[in-house]
Amino acid sequence: MLADKLPNGAGFVDWIARNWEDKLLFELLGKVEFCECDTACYNCLMSYQNRSLHALLDWRLGMQLLRVFKDGELKIDTLLTESETRAKKLLDELSGCFPEVNKVCDLDWPACFSDGGTLFLIVDPFVSPLLRTSNKLGKSASEWLQKDSSNDVRLMDTFNMSRRLAWCWSHRFEKMPIARLEDPATDPIPIAEPLKRLPSEEEWSKGIFELKKRPRGLPCSESRIFRKYQGEQITLRRAYLVRLADGEYVVGRISQFVDLEDNKTLQFAPLEYLDGLNYEQISEENIIAILCREEN
Ligand SMILES: [Zn+2]
Repeated sequence: MLADKLPNGAGFVDWIARNWEDKLLFELLGKVEFCECDTACYNCLMSYQNRSLHALLDWRLGMQLLRVFKDGELKIDTLLTESETRAKKLLDELSGCFPEVNKVCDLDWPACFSDGGTLFLIVDPFVSPLLRTSNKLGKSASEWLQKDSSNDVRLMDTFNMSRRLAWCWSHRFEKMPIARLEDPATDPIPIAEPLKRLPSEEEWSKGIFELKKRPRGLPCSESRIFRKYQGEQITLRRAYLVRLADGEYVVGRISQFVDLEDNKTLQFAPLEYLDGLNYEQISEENIIAILCREEN
């Protein structure tokens, strides 16, 4: 959520709302290189006013975050292509500072080093530690793990490396997350078929019903018990069963937006993104039920 700090607003949030799609999502993301610098400089994100945040600013992360807003996900292949050069450069810096760094050169991912049985893969911070063998990173991890059953793999992120290299090196075993390979038998969530029918209202006991099949957008671990929505105030803490325009029932959170003319819009966002659902504008009559979780 974005808001202006000043009582009458400086106009930035208003500008963002008006230019969100054209200028931010498309024009900005259409640029190959936002700036020539590695993280941030006075030509791009830095100003005297935000000097206390300089160490944290990073235009690449900003662009990646915008891409999540636009596409609902970050494609791992794009992410890896983008991070490869930077990761290699940081590995060289690390081995320049610490001669004991043992670079590993015979794997697909070009930025890795080992320490005993542990392989460290240098990657951008948004890369998930659950790796797939369909890309260079997962292939490298898989090859390393096959060499010896006691081997393991950790990720070292470029965000921390470009800001505190010595910290990364000295905390490599405590702070860098262990990565593992996705097990196709257990890890991918069972694919949910689009749910087009609900139990009829006669079958709802006191407005409560249970779904036999998992609707898209509902994580496997959640309950499938719902109670009828009766116009209660919509909150972000709850998850809702919603009917989309094509008749499919899906589960997610609902955010409310009010524009300058006081028009209210509702936006649906799935709880589980792996089902391929995206943000969608809905209206209140599409809200069918509220997910019953332990806390409500
Ligand atoms: Zn810059």
